[in-house]
Amino acid sequence: MYNGSIKPFEKKVWLSSPTMHGPEMEYIKEAYETNWMSTVGANINEVESIAAEKAGVKYAVALSCCTAALHLCVKLAGEKLYGKPPISHGAVEGKRVFCSDMTFDATLNPVVYEGGIPIFIDTEYDSWNMDPKALEKAFEIYPDVKLVVCAELYGFSGDIKQIKEICERHGALLIEDAAEAMGATWEGQQCGSFGDYAAISYNGNKIITGSSGGCLLTNSLEDANQARKWATQSREDAPWYQHEEVGYNYRMSNVIAGVVRGQYPYLEEHIAQKKAIYERYREGLKGLPVKMNPFDETKCKPNYWLSALIIDEEAMCKQVRGEQDVAYIPEPGKSCPSEILEALAGINAEGRPIWKPMHLQPMYRMNPFIGRTGNLRAKTNAYISGKTRDVGMDIFSRGVCLPSDNKMTEEEQNIVIEVIKNCFR
Ligand SMILES: *Cc1c(COP(=O)(O)O)cnc(C)c1O
Repeated sequence: MYNGSIKPFEKKVWLSSPTMHGPEMEYIKEAYETNWMSTVGANINEVESIAAEKAGVKYAVALSCCTAALHLCVKLAGEKLYGKPPISHGAVEGKRVFCSDMTFDATLNPVVYEGGIPIFIDTEYDSWNMDPKALEKAFEIYPDVKLVVCAELYGFSGDIKQIKEICERHGALLIEDAAEAMGATWEGQQCGSFGDYAAISYNGNKIITGSSGGCLLTNSLEDANQARKWATQSREDAPWYQHEEVGYNYRMSNVIAGVVRGQYPYLEEHIAQKKAIYERYREGLKGLPVKMNPFDETKCKPNYWLSALIIDEEAMCKQVRGEQDVAYIPEPGKSCPSEILEALAGINAEGRPIWKPMHLQPMYRMNPFIGRTGNLRAKTNAYISGKTRDVGMDIFSRGVCLPSDNKMTEEEQNIVIEVIKNCFR
């Protein structure tokens, strides 16, 4: 590794940090001056109309975060599939739900809030997203499953259209977690518009941000209204506080909505900057035994939220990851994510491991994990003979997210590239 003479950046180069432009402040000020310092107001209404229009869906419901949006997606889907549960029960209680495996845990936490049992579907090498072939296999093994939660990784969609078709063929509903993929498209159609329900995020490190916040997206007016009602403590239409079901305090603040409203006009600019970053990495890392995060260039237009690389198998030095810590043995000509992350930290730049797959998380050690050949926990013959593998674990062990901040300068990125090159010397 050794960065030798490379000096650490004085100002940290982030993985992905908020980029403000000015109008955000105007809308915050408007909220303040009109005294709509609340979960009601013009900014919220605007965010809902812009978010729906951008995503190409009929309705958006502005919420405190994307996790809350996903929670209400699970409740809507669960009640549609299984009917209204008793007050103290979850909407998908005791039901199996197919979930993306290599993702942030917020994708499926709401499934667990509602009593569901996540069954993890392995990842495909071609897109790092849910493997449609593994999903087909999962329906073979569990034909009773009626709900699928699929995330689009790092703003690079896989064949989400095919995932939707598979769901339809099996009479299942699809929740699309487009938290990372706002503005990305598959065959010209916006991510966030494929699922029966979808969620997007305005978390501080996403492609645009409100500091926090998220939207639930749907084409059903009835579902949008139901989500809005749940999000505001489930008040019935009565002169007093009347309640027939459990409620949540999930509405977006009008101040936060001001930030989101001010950011939307810059979504395309952010995507262009992130794309330039991805392409500079692809150029700059040529000749090294690594590849950038993959996508189908004919069908997917990513938003390039995070650039990531994967090290060729033959170029991996020995790396051992335990539950909490890691060790590796540096070797000339080879490297590993741990070494690269250490080298980046050494120059005051932020990288990140690939999302550790859910089937490897201690809390889900008992949950089934389905690959192309069946339940890989049970170690199928194809798995044992090496014809199929645990793709998520493999990408996790060889992949790493690179600094992808849209304010990173070209010179800074060149230094990051140089440091990565040094790891392989
Ligand atoms: C960020 C993220 C979320 C959660 O978004 P919040 O707005 O922080 O709740 C969910 N899923 C994925 C894949 C994410 O990256």
